[in-house]
Amino acid sequence: MSHHGGRGRARKLLIVGGVAGGASAAARARRMDEDCEIIVFDRGPHVSFANCGLPYFVGEVIQDEKELLIATPELFRKRFNIEVRTRSDVVRVDAKARQITVRDLESGKEYVESYDSLLLSPGAQPIRPPLPGIDLPGIFVVRTIPDSRKIRSWLSDRDVSSAVVIGGGFIGLEMAENLQRRGLAVTVLEAANQVMPPVDPEVAIVFQHHLEERGVNVELGDAVAAFEQREQGLMVSTGSGKRVPADLVVLAIGVRPETALAKAAGCTLGESGGIDVDEHMRTSVPGIWAVGDAVEVRRAVSGAELVLPLAGPANRQGRIAADDIVGRQASFRGVQGTSVCGAFDMVVAMTGCSEKSLRRNGMSDYERVYLHPGHHVGYYPGATPIHLKLLFRRSDGLILGAQAVGSHGIARRIDVISMAIQKEGTVFDLEEAELCYAPQFGAAKDPVNLAGMIAANVMRGDLKLARWEELGQTAAQIIDVRSPAEFEKGAIPGAVNIPLEELRERLDELSDDREVWVYCQVGQRAYYATRLLIQHGKQVRNLPGGYTTYQNFAALRAGG
Ligand code: FAD
Repeated sequence: MSHHGGRGRARKLLIVGGVAGGASAAARARRMDEDCEIIVFDRGPHVSFANCGLPYFVGEVIQDEKELLIATPELFRKRFNIEVRTRSDVVRVDAKARQITVRDLESGKEYVESYDSLLLSPGAQPIRPPLPGIDLPGIFVVRTIPDSRKIRSWLSDRDVSSAVVIGGGFIGLEMAENLQRRGLAVTVLEAANQVMPPVDPEVAIVFQHHLEERGVNVELGDAVAAFEQREQGLMVSTGSGKRVPADLVVLAIGVRPETALAKAAGCTLGESGGIDVDEHMRTSVPGIWAVGDAVEVRRAVSGAELVLPLAGPANRQGRIAADDIVGRQASFRGVQGTSVCGAFDMVVAMTGCSEKSLRRNGMSDYERVYLHPGHHVGYYPGATPIHLKLLFRRSDGLILGAQAVGSHGIARRIDVISMAIQKEGTVFDLEEAELCYAPQFGAAKDPVNLAGMIAANVMRGDLKLARWEELGQTAAQIIDVRSPAEFEKGAIPGAVNIPLEELRERLDELSDDREVWVYCQVGQRAYYATRLLIQHGKQVRNLPGGYTTYQNFAALRAGG
């Protein structure tokens, strides 16, 4: 983010785009300035609608379209004295004259509107790659209420039994769930080698296995190449030559920021393709602000610039831009990429950097721990595991990121860690975090505390970690400290089973000159073993997350 000078005057504020960022900004500007004139333009038929709810509208979890309308033009007028013009496409900006040209999509007529301040919140367009057959009927995107209405009509008017969802990100997976809910056999086709590309592969694979268990056909590492019309429905062919029949196709392969208007107005774009803004959401052109999916933001942890199409940042940026426009102090702190996706009763969430992104940015001063605690104490019925990965800076323990997958309690843990990251917290802060506890909610040592404790043990030198990736290449002696019964069911190839309870008596079986790598089912017994062996002078490392994490890495190596 660079710094741009120039503050517009708020007397007349025009806003392009009336959904997440635009509607937030309009309402905030009014709350802070009763006198300015505010007009919101949207080319669609609605403003302030719940785009995040659209997959559930398709799945009929949300039955009535009206539920998706958070605020109507009438409410804006009556409650906030804000004028909303729907079906109004803003087609040009003349920044020098401070004027926009609006096309009324009902009449086709164009007119000019002047402004003192202009806020752009035009969002992002779903990507439609120019592939053969891309415009065939039955291929849909999900961005607006009319888009999802079209999918619903397609489902109700035809005999539809199969769907291909292209893209295994959060919209793709939410659509997969909702199409299965509507009785369709669903294939998810993803070009990357994992679902949920923002998280690391060994976390995503837990989600993938769950999707497969729930009957979703997941095809990875294969991009869509073409669509053809069959006698009934479509045929989707892939880069590797697979052919998957589908009565309906949903494209969910990401979005591209809507920057045409900003570019034409002379606003600078960032390297990621989003509109360049400073921390007050000002563009490079005086009098023009921009927020939401269309802008480039800075990742707070790594400093990387990116576009991050999420509703939370869009809403907060709208509020900040409005404050700046009316002359109040406000600045945006950057993003952490905190996000969550739930589908088929499984949840995956993350905050901060993934290990992939750290490596991409050339960061090597990091360490990671894995753990798999229950979402509440084991003795209270219904505990389910939280598979948690925590990344932190090796030199000082600064928290860099966290990811978790499981059925319950996922968002809560990631939200806590997200707040710690925002406050530039360390693993020692997680170790000490005081969190809610009663049997049905957590444990006296919450998973967040446990993650902090394990990481703090590493920081203090009480625990050394081995890397799973080096397993096949190490000369270390691998010791499995689980029970023989657990060992029999499956173990790391080449591992020797010495149950924790026998370790003190069998110390002479352990190497003195080679490293000893220990593991158990999830890491806890291996930690006890590590402490025991260190104090007996052994060179010990712990395989973090135990056999449970091993299985995820092994499945990745085996190709899913
Ligand atoms: P939008 O909310 O998209 O609003 C932009 C508006 O501007 C649109 O109505 C568009 O028609 C209008 N517009 C654009 N150009 C012009 C023009 N020239 N003239 C007039 N009008 C124009 N985020 C989450 O954090 N969690 C979720 O669970 C989640 N689920 C989602 C599910 C779906 C199906 C979709 C599509 C998105 C989801 N998102 C989610 C993303 C979230 O909705 C967006 O990040 C957020 O809406 C961005 O806000 P925005 O104001 O930048 O753009």
